[in-house]
Amino acid sequence: MTTTKTTCPYCGVGCGVLATKEADGSVSIKGDPDHPANFGRLCSKGSALGETLGLDERLLYPEINGERASWDQALDLVADKFSTAIAEHGPDSVAFYVSGQILTEDYYVANKLMKGFIGSANIDTNSRLCMASSVAGHRRAFGTDTVPGTYEDLELADLIILVGSNLAWCHPVIYQRIAAAKEARPEMKVVLIDPRRTMTADLADYHLAIKPDGDVALFNGLLTHLAKSGALDHDYIEAHTSGFEEALIAASALSPDQLCDQTGLAQEELDAFYELVSSTQKTVTVYSQGVNQSSSGSDKVNAIINCHLATGRIGREGMGPFSITGQPNAMGGREVGGLANMLAAHMNIENPDHRDTVQEFWQSPTIADSQGLKAVDMFKAVGDGRIKALWIMATNPVDSMPDADGVQEAIKNCPFVVVSDVLGATDTVRHGDVKLPATGWGEKDGTVTNSERRISHQKAFLPAPGEAKADWWQLAEVAKRMGFYDAFDWANNAGIFREFAALSSYKNEGERDFDIGAYAAINTKDYDELEPFQWPQALGQETKETRFFAEGDFYTPDRKGRFLALNAVAKDPRTSSHPFILNTGRLRDHWHTMTRTGKAARLSSHMAEPFAEIHPDDAADLGIDDADLVRVSNDYGEIIVRALLTTRQQRCCVFVPLHWTDQFAAKARVDVLIPPQTDPFSGQPASKNNAVQVSRYEAAHYGFLISRQEPHFDQTAYWSKARCNGGWRAEFALDVMLDNPLDFAAKLLTIPQDCVPLTYCDKTGGGARGVWFEGERLHSAIYLSKSPVSASRSLLIDLMEQEHKDLASRAQILAARPSADMPDKGAIVCSCFNVGRNEIAAAAVAGCHTVGMIGDRLNAGTNCGSCRSEIAALIELNQLQAAE
Ligand code: SF4
Repeated sequence: MTTTKTTCPYCGVGCGVLATKEADGSVSIKGDPDHPANFGRLCSKGSALGETLGLDERLLYPEINGERASWDQALDLVADKFSTAIAEHGPDSVAFYVSGQILTEDYYVANKLMKGFIGSANIDTNSRLCMASSVAGHRRAFGTDTVPGTYEDLELADLIILVGSNLAWCHPVIYQRIAAAKEARPEMKVVLIDPRRTMTADLADYHLAIKPDGDVALFNGLLTHLAKSGALDHDYIEAHTSGFEEALIAASALSPDQLCDQTGLAQEELDAFYELVSSTQKTVTVYSQGVNQSSSGSDKVNAIINCHLATGRIGREGMGPFSITGQPNAMGGREVGGLANMLAAHMNIENPDHRDTVQEFWQSPTIADSQGLKAVDMFKAVGDGRIKALWIMATNPVDSMPDADGVQEAIKNCPFVVVSDVLGATDTVRHGDVKLPATGWGEKDGTVTNSERRISHQKAFLPAPGEAKADWWQLAEVAKRMGFYDAFDWANNAGIFREFAALSSYKNEGERDFDIGAYAAINTKDYDELEPFQWPQALGQETKETRFFAEGDFYTPDRKGRFLALNAVAKDPRTSSHPFILNTGRLRDHWHTMTRTGKAARLSSHMAEPFAEIHPDDAADLGIDDADLVRVSNDYGEIIVRALLTTRQQRCCVFVPLHWTDQFAAKARVDVLIPPQTDPFSGQPASKNNAVQVSRYEAAHYGFLISRQEPHFDQTAYWSKARCNGGWRAEFALDVMLDNPLDFAAKLLTIPQDCVPLTYCDKTGGGARGVWFEGERLHSAIYLSKSPVSASRSLLIDLMEQEHKDLASRAQILAARPSADMPDKGAIVCSCFNVGRNEIAAAAVAGCHTVGMIGDRLNAGTNCGSCRSEIAALIELNQLQAAE
């Protein structure tokens, strides 16, 4: 057994992981107790990493036009196509679309090739969809893209304001750190600002259910209140900032009534919040996608920063604005200039001195001298034919970009598309002319930077499968074939890191924040053993204080932090024909487009099907019942998902998770509904405030199945499938009445001939059920009904694991009903211990009134802790019901 210290590949918390190869070939995963991001904690996704390492569905060899090719053939073709496009149409006719999933060394090579050697800035990243507005906000206020604080500040603060941030599900270890700090210091206050009452509300003393995009108004109002209540730090404003007066005038533009209207909050709610902030010095404001993914995302960031600058609450223990990134290496991408509007090492593309510095350091033939195409504009350029050759690396834009159907068409029609990926058939990979197999987590090696500027080593502990190669190697080989041999001739990734570290300190006398020159001469052995560290780490200087701006010294020309004067009026996009606001986001146990988490049965047990959260009153108005199917649509497209009725949702708003793709569902790619509208400063798409229609979807037949085989649906109006213990589960619905439902089942599932069936057909009611046994084990079961199928899913999945010798046991499967000895545990809440909602509710009714007591009785919530907020919500719900 060998244990490797590495880093989790999911969110921007950047947790340290101990991966141990066991004697049987499996990999066990634990949190690294020494890693300063998580101190041994992991969430449900991180804990299940060992279950995502199988080689099924992997892309293992290069392919050209769907045929296996050698690496030489594939790389020669890529180099030739890119060189030809550049020669015939200029450098801006090619583009790279990369990802916050790739490592800093990969990013560095991609950026160097595009900006220094091809001579275009057409390299952008899916991080554009995640945190570009924070980058723009930082650069406008600080002169550079700096996160001023550290995670420790979240434990030291007396007040944490969470804005548009569902930490409980999206950054669970940060949630756990704050929860532990609050338990130790119950006087610590948490305010959640979010249109939805997310699971993070469990941690909050106050939840402000703000109107979508009411954030600038809210923080402008706060700035005005801080000024009126004497909470300003005049010395800090005077010594270290500029633009305060103008910002305050703009912030004061709304009347109290207008402020209530823009935020959707009552005057008393605003007063209480403002007074709390005004009277609490140690305040941290945490924000993520709810702030960033907006047409006013950059202004929201600056409205928050304005309040921290005005109070001098920045760069000191327990104080500061704090952007949390979504992806594991969004920050690393920002550092190497992986965005179309930045140069490497936090240098500015518009700054001629910076361009000279980078070009001189690289000894490159050229340097891009203006911004390239940001993600949305890049795919528009692909669509209108300006881009002739496109390289997509480690991302799935057919699912994740706004106007996802338009992006799919653009990629299909692009003359030459290269995809580097670990999987052979994502919704994007299937359109690649050349497919290059990439190493995945566990196989690739390099560095990542988390949300608190901490650089950690993501280490390989598995051999590269098939002919998979690191992304940096692929890029360097193409660069060499394009004629840039010497500049891309690294022996290993340590050499790339050294070069990047040297660039960060090149001609940097302290005027640039990002400096890791202390590592410019690191040898390969030390690189292999690199311990997590926070930047800056300049050569020859003592390790600096890890916080920025307590004493000003910003990276603007006058070294002052800049206030911004901001307009707070947001337009409500709803119309009479599109009366709902669509909000999108992540779930607790899935990640992006499920290319990894979709492999782990236990991660799908929490939420196995795409859904739309709708307020029960809206649902009643529309004639929608819980578990009905609903159509959500607008001029861009439509999806069909399950209705989930909840008062956590505001009236006339719907929430749809972003994870489902054509690989897992018939019509649930929510980004087909997102218009290609962006924030004017950051270019980040607005994914959380778009108008849609919602209506009940009338199906003739509904179905549910479980099977040891993967079902393949064809011409089925609605389907959604997920792995479960022992096989697959699927929900589906048909537009047409079936004459013989069991014939349909037989076509859908390939039942082995020697299976023994047990069937039931209700000819008058239109329902039918069939189960098939292979020996004493259940092979498949299918349930069809004219209304949404009533069957205990978790019971049936548990029964897949058991032997069924007698007719009674087999009949229970056909009935799909719980019994006294096999109760229905309900939807799974704790995926680590497979504990269901009904079990937790029963324990709560029986007297378990804390999460700890539930843990003692059922184990639920005692491993990764990601479900603790849901358990708390269930306890509260059952206590309320008991009291009624
Ligand atoms: Fe990974 Fe979870 Fe940590 Fe994020 S919080 S880095 S997903 S273990």
